[in-house]
Amino acid sequence: KAQPAAPSKIHCNVGTIGHVDHGKTTLTAAITKVTCKHGLGKFVAYDQIDKAPEEQRRGITINAAHVEYDTPTRHYAHTDCPGHRDYVKNMISGTSQMDAAILVVAATDGHMPQTREHLLLAKQIGVKNVVVFINKADLVDAETLELVEIEMRELLTQYGYDGVASPVVVGSALKALQNDGEGEKCIDELLKALDTYLPVPERDTKSPFLLPIESSFTVPNRGTVAIGTVVKGRLKKGDQAEILGHGAQLKTVVTDIQVFRNSVPSAEAGHNVGCLVRGIKPDQLARGMIICPPNIFRAYNHFKAQIYFLTKHEGGRSKPVRSGYTQQMYSHTWDMEWRCDLKPGLEMLMPGDNAEVFCTLRRQMVLEPNQRFTIRENHQTVATGVITKLLS
Ligand code: GDP
Ligand code: MG
Repeated sequence: KAQPAAPSKIHCNVGTIGHVDHGKTTLTAAITKVTCKHGLGKFVAYDQIDKAPEEQRRGITINAAHVEYDTPTRHYAHTDCPGHRDYVKNMISGTSQMDAAILVVAATDGHMPQTREHLLLAKQIGVKNVVVFINKADLVDAETLELVEIEMRELLTQYGYDGVASPVVVGSALKALQNDGEGEKCIDELLKALDTYLPVPERDTKSPFLLPIESSFTVPNRGTVAIGTVVKGRLKKGDQAEILGHGAQLKTVVTDIQVFRNSVPSAEAGHNVGCLVRGIKPDQLARGMIICPPNIFRAYNHFKAQIYFLTKHEGGRSKPVRSGYTQQMYSHTWDMEWRCDLKPGLEMLMPGDNAEVFCTLRRQMVLEPNQRFTIRENHQTVATGVITKLLS
């Protein structure tokens, strides 16, 4: 059974990203193996991670495995996804908001298209730090390893990360998983890189709490539980709350909070929680509604945003966008029909362009400046953006 992080330990959300078959799942299993040997976690086998349970979010299915492990100073929650599409969906849905990503690259291939797309997405969704793990070192010579490291540092810089200071760890996840001493050493090195390079995540626990609902269910004899990750602030058991979005405005009291299935007196930014909400029926809740303190937030449907359209090479559109472009916008845990209008005088935006645009949502949602979102066409990410100004 999962243990909650000891209060003295720093909590970090991490995840493996990178091209298919480069060894993300093997590395995830290897980390749990090594930390388990140190008595700091439970071993999770490769097969268990790879047959990650399906999660339903916004009507789309995402496969994601969540494992946990500790180092002497930190508690890590780690996400691994089986397929490329799952990564894209998981990252832009932001529900396993990563403080840092472990970018896995096979020394046999070097960086590949999905390596670059994941890195681009990581940057766009605000993942602050990247640690590189050059995997399959057992299959190449030292010269190749050096070359891959140089290429990866260049790639980090190109995508706006610190290509000089970011740790690059070289090793073999498979060897580590096979109890090979050398292999295990590279896992320890990776954990040390995480512990020392990643700053203590700055969680905003002072602001009014904001909890976007991912899903909800009924507990017989208890009531309705809403699930989500606290975006900011701290909520306490017994807090008065308001539920806003999709046109709703409901009053409630949070009568219980659970983290990793344990009842806790309070939860704060970064925690994935289940909240028992008094007097609310499950059918009154929808994914994307916000649980927040009363009379603080409000819902909008007009705003200005800075938006970037992905190039065809990055998986985006091949054709330009003009005023009136209407697609599906995804933010926090919701998605909704969205219309984009260009500034007067601007005729079109080409893939690869970024600009400030006027946006309209079909229904009012709780929005804030700096809130990130993505635009997708047929489950394909074509743009990412950030809200710059709310318009009433
Ligand atoms: P993912 O798609 O990125 O999750 O990749 P997997 O973890 O499923 O690994 C893909 C394949 O590469 C599997 O057959 C692994 O056994 C193999 N593999 C992973 N890490 C290593 C390694 O360090 N060395 C070698 N030789 N093979 C590895
Ligand atoms: Mg995998």
